[in-house]
Amino acid sequence: MSIIIEPFRIKVVEPIRQTTEEERVEILKNAHYNPFLIKSDDILIDFLTDSGTGAMSDRQWGALMQGDESYAGSRSFFRFESVVKKITGFKHIIPTHQGRAAERILFSIMVQKGDIVPNNTHFDTTRANIEFNDAEAVDLVIPEGKIPELEHPFKGNMDLEKLEELLEKYHDRIPLGMVTITNNSGGGQPVSMENIREVSRLLHKYNMPFFIDACRFAENAYFIKLREKGYENKSVLEIAQEIFSYADGCTMSAKKDGLVNIGGFLAMNDDELAMKARTLLILTEGFPSYGGLAGRDLEALAVGLEEVLNEDYLKYRLRTAEYMGERLLDAGISIIRPTGGHAVYIDAKAFYPHIPPSQFPGQTLVCELYKKGGIRGVEIGSVMFGKKDKETGEEIPAPMELVRLAFPRRVYTQSHFDYAIEKIIETFKDRENAKGMKITWEPPFLRHFTAKFEPVE
Ligand SMILES: *Cc1c(COP(=O)(O)O)cnc(C)c1O
Repeated sequence: MSIIIEPFRIKVVEPIRQTTEEERVEILKNAHYNPFLIKSDDILIDFLTDSGTGAMSDRQWGALMQGDESYAGSRSFFRFESVVKKITGFKHIIPTHQGRAAERILFSIMVQKGDIVPNNTHFDTTRANIEFNDAEAVDLVIPEGKIPELEHPFKGNMDLEKLEELLEKYHDRIPLGMVTITNNSGGGQPVSMENIREVSRLLHKYNMPFFIDACRFAENAYFIKLREKGYENKSVLEIAQEIFSYADGCTMSAKKDGLVNIGGFLAMNDDELAMKARTLLILTEGFPSYGGLAGRDLEALAVGLEEVLNEDYLKYRLRTAEYMGERLLDAGISIIRPTGGHAVYIDAKAFYPHIPPSQFPGQTLVCELYKKGGIRGVEIGSVMFGKKDKETGEEIPAPMELVRLAFPRRVYTQSHFDYAIEKIIETFKDRENAKGMKITWEPPFLRHFTAKFEPVE
């Protein structure tokens, strides 16, 4: 196999700071063993998230200068709108400052108290926005999608039988159905075209609109090209167009496959719904031709949405996660398989069998990776999703203890990844010396962002 290279050369550089392990031990202690509390200047390789952390191209930086900052009817809006229409085919394109703003508007106008919204797996802001309207967010990913070591080409697929059961039973309470591509909360796993087509058919059979959470639509489209029969000779644009043709609308965080640092949109075909959405948009985001963004942001996004469909880019993008995954598996480290589009998920329970979930093995691993290599990842386990027993106050662990290493787009080179792989393996070899963690302080909600920890002695 020939080497797949970064399909770009570097024009602007941003220095990253080397620190010693001694310094990092001190920094970690001062951050209460929570990497969210470490200053980015003290991080060498930042794999905290792929959201809004990508590098823009020379064409995007050039486009910024062409932003039309007119309050209404901005030229930049029409440029952005025409690109989104070309890809999605939707009639109404409504810019928002990021994905959750699109979600908030959509669910405010569509979802009522007691409603149920099915999805393969709701992303946390999607779920929160549904629950905020006193409705229920139901996850219906296929059973294979929940088994980390199981190989399956489309682990993000929706369980069609379960969906039909739900539709049959509760069709009065379901205002819309969704599918998230790729399935971020389920390991960045793709959804097949066949599955999208069937979800669409089922929802439409019950006269329900179908919306796509499209944050990583280009990565998903390229997985379809690589893995689904009949798509090998189609362009990624054609595949994306077919995906959206089955839906009635979408929400999008452009901080992912929009290749920009901020932005998003809501799109749909229904005229009346769009009118309601624009009314809410004006209330909280801005006039419909900018929706909380600057004209220059819309220019950069228009270019980003074209660049993300480049197949050399997507090949390098998906290969990055696969490459790291192969090296870690060779070293005996358990990960979610196969690797998804934007991240590698390490199984921290398998990494540290001597640390029980009540002592947060994922938190131990994110701290050790920082200490050993200045690398920042995020715990997705009992710190993030654990619950407390209402009566005893005892911790109820999450089903999995994972550490996600998410990859900013077009930011790190292969040697950065080789370095990270070396440090992860070093951490693995030293696993017996690692200690569990205990929480010394936590807030009432979303504790992972601000909780304080101490190693268990
Ligand atoms: C990031 C993300 C969102 C929310 O987008 P923001 O821009 O962070 O508000 C929604 N759904 C998925 C799948 C995401 O990855």
